[in-house]
Order: sequence, then C-alpha cells, then structure tokens
Amino acid sequence: MIPYGKQDINQADIDAVLGVLRSDFLTQGPKVPAFEQVVASHVGAEHALAVNSATSALHIACLALGLGQGDWLWTTPVTFVASANCGLYCGAKVDFVDIDPETYNLCPRALEVKLERAAKEKCLPKVVVVVHLCGQPCNMEAIGILAKKYGFKVIEDASHAIGGKYQGEFIGNCRYSDITVFSFHPVKIVTTAEGGMAVTNDANLADKMNLLRSHGITREPTHMTQEPDGPWYYQQVDLGFNYRMTELQAALGVSQMERLDAFVARRHQLATRYDRLLVDLPILLPWQHPDSYSGLHLYVIRLKLGSIRRSHREVFESLREQGIGVNLHYIPVHTQPYYQAMGFQAEDFPQSMAYYQEAISLPMFQGLTENQQDDVVSALRNALAGE
Ligand SMILES: *Cc1c(COP(=O)(O)O)cnc(C)c1O
Repeated sequence: MIPYGKQDINQADIDAVLGVLRSDFLTQGPKVPAFEQVVASHVGAEHALAVNSATSALHIACLALGLGQGDWLWTTPVTFVASANCGLYCGAKVDFVDIDPETYNLCPRALEVKLERAAKEKCLPKVVVVVHLCGQPCNMEAIGILAKKYGFKVIEDASHAIGGKYQGEFIGNCRYSDITVFSFHPVKIVTTAEGGMAVTNDANLADKMNLLRSHGITREPTHMTQEPDGPWYYQQVDLGFNYRMTELQAALGVSQMERLDAFVARRHQLATRYDRLLVDLPILLPWQHPDSYSGLHLYVIRLKLGSIRRSHREVFESLREQGIGVNLHYIPVHTQPYYQAMGFQAEDFPQSMAYYQEAISLPMFQGLTENQQDDVVSALRNALAGE
C-alpha cells in the first residue's frame, strides 16, 4: 500500500535521538529550547512553546486567550476534530463557518455574514480558529480585518502548513493572528513522532502557555505571590497540565527542521507533476493561491461526479483495492455524532458537505517516488473508468 503520508527519517535524525538517549536529560533539558529557537527563527515568531501535540497546543492557546464558559469558538467544519474540541475543553461553545468552495478554507465572506448576525444577537466569538487546509494559507488579511472590527482573537491551526508562505512570509509569523499552532505527527510535514508547537509574538501569551504546559507551576520569582522560601521553592499559580515535549522528540525536531525547506520543495515538485499527469481526468485539481506558497501537506482532488459513472465511494474503494492508501480529509466535524448531539445538521454547512462528497487525498509525502506516483495516477484512471 502506498500511504497518503509518511515520515522521512535519515541517519542524522537517528543520531540526534541516540545522542539524547546517551545524554543527561531525557526531558526538561536543552533540546526543547533549541527546537523552539529553530522553529521561531524559521517562521519569524518571537516566542515558541513546544508541547506533546498540536491538540495540546490548541488547548493552551485557547486558555491563554481567556476562552472559557459562556464564550464561543468558531472554526471550519473541514478540519481535524482537534481544531473544534479545544473550545469544548475550555468549557466554551463551538460553532462553524462554512468553507470557500475554491480554497476549501474558512470563507471570510461567510465569516463576515455570521459576525454581523452574531453582533446583533450579542453572541460574537471570542476565538476563531482558522485552518490552512492542505497547507494552503487562509485569507489572513481579510480575517485580520474582521478580528479588529469585531474584537475576536485568531488562532492559526497551521498543522498542515509549516514551511509554507503567505504574502511572501512564512506561516507562523502571526502577522494577522495571536497564536499559530503546528503539528509534528508523522503524517505531517516534519515530525517529532507526537508533538506540537504554539508560536506567538505576545510575551504575555507565551508566559501563560509556558505555565499551562507544565502544571501551572513557576520557578520564576517574579511570577510568584511571595519571596521564595528557599532554592527548592516553586509555586503553582494556575491549573496547568503535563503537555511537555521530551528531549528525544525535540532533538528529532531540530534535525528534521534542517530539511523542512527541501521537504516542502519536494512536495511542490510532486504536486506540479500530479497537476500535469491528471489534467485530462474528470476531477478538480487543488487550487493554488498565486501569491502563496502552500506547505502542501495534502493533495486533495475532487471528483466531477456528473462526468463519471462511478460513485465517490466506488472510486475510493477501487483505489484502496489497487494498493493506493488514499484518505479523506475531513469528515465535516459538525456531522460527528458528538457534535450532532449539540444540534448541528449536516446541511448547515452546504459547501463543506459538497466538498466531503467529492474529495479524495492522494498520496503526498517527500519520499514518494515518481514510479509510485505513476502507479497512483494509473490506479486513479482505472478507478474513474470503473475497471
Ligand atoms: C493533525 C492535526 C491536528 C492535531 O495534531 P496532533 O499533533 O496530532 O494533536 C490538529 N489540527 C489539524 C488541522 C491537524 O491536521
């Protein structure tokens, strides 16, 4: 089976992890701050907090922004459940904004319409989580203008987008957002096995997230309510979690970051090749923003169901039977049973549902060979022809 995504591990990565195993610190040593420094300087953010997953990063980002009971978090239905669940973890309510049919990202026009209504009904969101689906950046400028006008905070869920650029600058510089979150799960662009990071330019938010990722405990006298009792002293000043990243993970992350730009460049080569090989098929190819550089975590096609005799499911099953590990990103979150129980109807977000009925993620990862890619293309040809 050719998977849809796969990590790329070389000898330098292995040596980096072995080096940590032989060192004094398996956790809470020098590698985590080194990894944070590498990511922060690569993406152009002032502060970076490494944690054990992007899900944890989203949680502490929401808490740092003050999200709590009675507040609303809005996000896109076409994302992994974590982009919405982080609101529920904080006791907030979650709602969705439909996608733009061209970019598949949260639609700024739909957002504006929903904000106008929410302003009248006095239920504006406190936090909006935007997701750079497939690595394609959202229209951050438009979202930033709405954030100022309506007073909400913006988290960029850039789990798909490290190494990508928006308006010529790396995603993660938080020019139009408060916090950006990355995932280092093995299917993502760079990996630490499990792992995530929150980056921000706001020192106050960074301090809060730093506390929350490690039990709400501080050893920093200036953050304490009294003079330390002695050199052993620490204080718990908030209710935090153990969301720390290990030294092994951070060392792997530092080593992977050296190849980030090459990884994304390779993904672009593969995408360009797919575009060329698939051009005559009855499918919609992924749209690429002319002024952006996608991280290209995913290569999603949409079937033109009116032009083929096969159903979406038949094409998908045929690809799997032919050894192509295609996937579907994502089942719209509002259709999950846990969210349906909150009263969402599938038809509340029609563009997301239309996308779901046609989308298939083809294999896309830096180690995909051209031979494998040719196999994917011929399997897709077969599947669409119904063989
Ligand atoms: C993978 C992913 C997450 C969760 O990442 P973890 O590191 O596995 O917690 C969140 N949001 C999106 C969009 C993702 O793709």
